[in-house]
Amino acid sequence: MVNINTVAVIGSGTMGAGIAEVAASHGHQVLIHDISADAVSRAIDGIRQRLASRVSRGKLSAEASAQILARLVPVTDIDALAAADLVIEAASERLEVKKALFARLAEICPPQTLLTSNTSSISVTAIAADIRHPERVAGLHFFNPAPVMKLVEVVSGLATSSEVANVLCELAMNWGKQPVRCQSTPGFIVNRVARPFYSEAWRALEEQVAAPEIIDAALREGGGFPMGPLELTDMIGQDVNFAVTCSVFNAFWQERRFLPSLVQQELVLAGRLGKKSGKGVYDWLGEKTTARWVDAVNDSFSPIGVHRRGDGVTQIDEVLLIETQGETAQSLAVKHSCPVVVIDRLERDVAVIAAASGNPHAATQKAVRHLQQQGYRVLHIADYPGLLIWRTVAMIANEALDALQKGVASEKDIDTAMRLGVNYPSGPIAWGERLGWQRLLTLLENLQRHYGEERYRPCSLLRQRALLESSHES
Ligand code: NAD
Repeated sequence: MVNINTVAVIGSGTMGAGIAEVAASHGHQVLIHDISADAVSRAIDGIRQRLASRVSRGKLSAEASAQILARLVPVTDIDALAAADLVIEAASERLEVKKALFARLAEICPPQTLLTSNTSSISVTAIAADIRHPERVAGLHFFNPAPVMKLVEVVSGLATSSEVANVLCELAMNWGKQPVRCQSTPGFIVNRVARPFYSEAWRALEEQVAAPEIIDAALREGGGFPMGPLELTDMIGQDVNFAVTCSVFNAFWQERRFLPSLVQQELVLAGRLGKKSGKGVYDWLGEKTTARWVDAVNDSFSPIGVHRRGDGVTQIDEVLLIETQGETAQSLAVKHSCPVVVIDRLERDVAVIAAASGNPHAATQKAVRHLQQQGYRVLHIADYPGLLIWRTVAMIANEALDALQKGVASEKDIDTAMRLGVNYPSGPIAWGERLGWQRLLTLLENLQRHYGEERYRPCSLLRQRALLESSHES
């Protein structure tokens, strides 16, 4: 197999510049090509500044920085890329642009040159379709910012040889990255499995369950995600995040699980693109809005009798505190003929609660007081099936299992991708294993019953895992 010395990067925008920096930092000569010569100069200037900052912080010697910069070679004529052993294309995200570039590369490069694309959504199979030696074409999907983010998805199209995928994985590791292997399916691993993180937040907003800052606080502080989903879309850019959702939705033939949100579309249409435009879900120029936590409930509501009944039900005087399994507090209150508060919590000190609408004030207060006595910070939202944290985690784990079942990637690689590509606190499959597949299945079945929507359909592998779990327990 080829020895990779010279690397070519096509497209020197955000991603191309970062990838060029990574390759040059690992000793490769890097040919940088862009249709715009200015873009190449800007990319090299940007790299120079980043390296200078590392030198000033004592993270890199001035000599090493100079060597890295000396390895960057601007190239105006695409034919000069014939000298590369590996080409990484990071031009615009349009199939016709990529197909034209790969057709040219296949003509000018020898058959052993590896041709890769950093595409985040275009089929690698389609890019490779009309060129000679499609077995050397693969996706090499870096995350932004490329010099910082550890994950690289090594994407195989129908024709990609396993040898090529192996070489790319090895190279990624030599570059200090963690590669994961996946098949060329819409969204690959990360952009597919992450969709419910956003879409469930939009859904909660659409159903006016809670203010955005409460939804974000629940997922960030209660779920352990590095950022809340809505603030994250403001950082990514509403236009970019909405485009990825639409692309995955359409690529899956309008699969309802990926349905884009009208609320997000409105933001995009209004030009409220998030941090970059000053306003998105939040106003980034005004004062920061923070979640309103439930105030401390006074002593007069201290419960007299607390009795754990098992199955996630705690009796607190006259009120039942029930761990969410996807039913509303109201339906549970009717079922049990008593006041009910539903709770949504993971292994943290945050409890999201919803109360049945007929609850006497004192009953809900007692449940809150009980949680606060146990050290929980409480967020109170409208009565909503599955609430915020469990519902989101259930949907992510379901998507991860669906991808696993369909052979997109291995269990280990799916979990690694979500931990390193979007910094989830746990791989979703390991998470499901810990939380219990049966409970996630019940939650989704209840959501599906509640809404009558395909969107909450549990995948077949989730049913199998839940069965296996119960057979181990019995
Ligand atoms: P960008 O707009 O910042 O840069 C694209 C560059 O490609 C521009 O400088 C443009 O002049 C150049 N270009 C366009 N057509 C070209 C051609 N025919 N030949 C040579 N150069 C050409 O875009 P970006 O954000 O860096 O994205 C590049 C690729 O990486 C896309 O496929 C994108 O989907 C993917 N990607 C982006 C991100 C991200 O967060 N931005 C993350 C992962 C992958």
